Amino acid sequence: MKKNTTRLLKKLSGNKYNRKNQLKYKVYSILEQVKFVIYQYSIKSRSYRYISPQAYSLFGYSPEEFVTNPLLVRKLIHPDSFGYFKEHWKKLLHGEVPDFYELKVVHKNNGIRWVQQRNLLIRNSKGEPEIIEGVVTDITERKLAEEALRQSELQKRSFLNTLPHLAWLKDVNGYYIEVNESFARRRKLSVKEIIGKTDYDIYSRRDAEKYRKEDAWIIESKEACFFEEKSNNEWFETFKAPIINENNEVTGVTGISLDITKRKQIDEELKLYSKKLSDQNEILRIINDELIRAKERAEESDRLKSSFLANMSHEIRTPMNAILGFSELLKSKKFTDERKENFISIINSKSRQLMQIIEDIIDISKIEAGQIKITSINFSVNDLIEDLEISYNTLQTHEKKPIRFIKKTDRKGEELWINSDKLRIEQILTNFLSNAYKFTDEGEIELGYEMGRNNTLVFYVRDTGIGIEKDKHKIIFEHFRQVSVSQSRIYGGTGLGLSISRGLAEKLGGSIWVESEINKGSTFYLKIPYIKGEKTEKAARHVTEVYNWGDKTILIAEDEDANYEFFKLLLSATKVKIIRATNGNEAVEKSKNKHVDLVLMDVKLPELDGLEATRIIKKNRKELPVIAQTAYAMSSDEQECLKAGCDGYLAKPIDTRSFLSLISQFM
Ligand code: ADP
Repeated sequence: MKKNTTRLLKKLSGNKYNRKNQLKYKVYSILEQVKFVIYQYSIKSRSYRYISPQAYSLFGYSPEEFVTNPLLVRKLIHPDSFGYFKEHWKKLLHGEVPDFYELKVVHKNNGIRWVQQRNLLIRNSKGEPEIIEGVVTDITERKLAEEALRQSELQKRSFLNTLPHLAWLKDVNGYYIEVNESFARRRKLSVKEIIGKTDYDIYSRRDAEKYRKEDAWIIESKEACFFEEKSNNEWFETFKAPIINENNEVTGVTGISLDITKRKQIDEELKLYSKKLSDQNEILRIINDELIRAKERAEESDRLKSSFLANMSHEIRTPMNAILGFSELLKSKKFTDERKENFISIINSKSRQLMQIIEDIIDISKIEAGQIKITSINFSVNDLIEDLEISYNTLQTHEKKPIRFIKKTDRKGEELWINSDKLRIEQILTNFLSNAYKFTDEGEIELGYEMGRNNTLVFYVRDTGIGIEKDKHKIIFEHFRQVSVSQSRIYGGTGLGLSISRGLAEKLGGSIWVESEINKGSTFYLKIPYIKGEKTEKAARHVTEVYNWGDKTILIAEDEDANYEFFKLLLSATKVKIIRATNGNEAVEKSKNKHVDLVLMDVKLPELDGLEATRIIKKNRKELPVIAQTAYAMSSDEQECLKAGCDGYLAKPIDTRSFLSLISQFM
């Protein structure tokens, strides 16, 4: 190295070792000790005047090579930097004093190196540019480190940016140091715009405060944590962790956040779905319960039906037994007339009992079919009470119990007139009375009425009988329901009376109910709307008229001999002439006889039924009255008869009085 300097000095100074040269020598030898390259370049000769020996280790070329080859610089400076280098020297020559600048150079061994240099322009005494001095430092290592850092930065960035998550890093004061592109995109800002900002600059105040609190907790606890948060209808799952340096101090908070809005929506949908499922389950449970109840009801109704049939069978067989037994006894000659009278009265009473059962069944069917008709008339309530007393007295004919009958009105002798269906009210109260009598062994039965609230009239039947348990107060008004099976064995009954009464009361626009205490007695109430009735002339009660139809002829169309004989008997007192037909065709033929004044037509006839026969008769003789008589008793049957052309209708069993009174209307 020293050799080089000496050689160069000799060349520069023409081998003269004077003081000045000595000084130069000293300077150069110092320069040779330092790490950087120094050179002097002559502008005039366009060649290096001096270059320090370090040039060899830096560029691989010796100082001689530099000095002798002025074009070496072209080879040395990498094409990437050459333009820049030229530009720089131009500025230098124009008097600018540029700063340090960096160049990429090519080592003699073709390796790339980085240098930093600074130049100084030295002018001659005339002020013309003469020499450029330069100091060159090797910065390859720094440059490589910088490059490595840049690469690693790039990798880190591309890694962060490929993440679908939002990622960020904040310092302890909450300033963003790093964010990835997903984060920036979400905030509709660029990465650069976010860095250096705080949450308060990019979020709503509320959100920012929340995030600040979370960060504070992380910094304080030095622990990582998961958070689930909602911002503007978007859900995020965030993992935050502290950045801890080697002194165990928290220097920042890093976070990574995943948009879980979709997952949340699915969760919500699942929740809704599961709610729907549980609702459906609930509905299924209700349906199931309903089915169980329906099954229980069906079983109950089955049980009721069986017990009804058993009761019914018992209720029918008992009077039947008496009727058949006593009618058999009637044939015997060993009984006196008086005893036979007694047998007949038993047969009559038992037949009426049987008839009552049939009436009840028909009534309940009518109620269920909505066929009950209400026929309102003006009547006196006092008369009704009197009629009911008479019915009550008939209850006692066979069995006399120590019971006092009381009737009560709140009118002090004054008559109360009402417009309503007398027969139906009588039917309900008769049922109350017969139950009261049935279930009372001794004491009192009181029948009365009072004016109720809101223009109503309330009838009641009170007894001192066995009473009814509270939990049975409602069910006894349902079909076939009785207080208990054991009780029905003692007292009999079909369990229809009260349900018929309830149906009738409702039809009248009223209601019935009971108040009762076990072993003390019961009071049954009937409440009906009170419509003031007009006072009318009272019909003479229970007067039997005597008819004389000796000049008339009736055609009786009846296939059953017993019934025919019965009609004959009923009509015998009227002296009317009778012709019989036993089927429909015969009835049509015989009705053509001009002497026939009226036809009594059985609806159920062989060959041609009664209604069809009536239609033909009415075609032949429009004026000839036809009265239908049938064992069918529904109101639709009556309608059918009237539609076929019948002028009147009688239901079997025939009531003597109404039978004659109806015929008399046509005679
Ligand atoms: P039935 O009398 O034919 O059984 P009801 O419908 O009239 O039918 O009565 C139903 C049930 O109500 C009776 O079987 C009886 O258990 C009870 N009941 C009705 N009236 C009385 C009463 N006055 N005292 C006690 N129990 C009664």
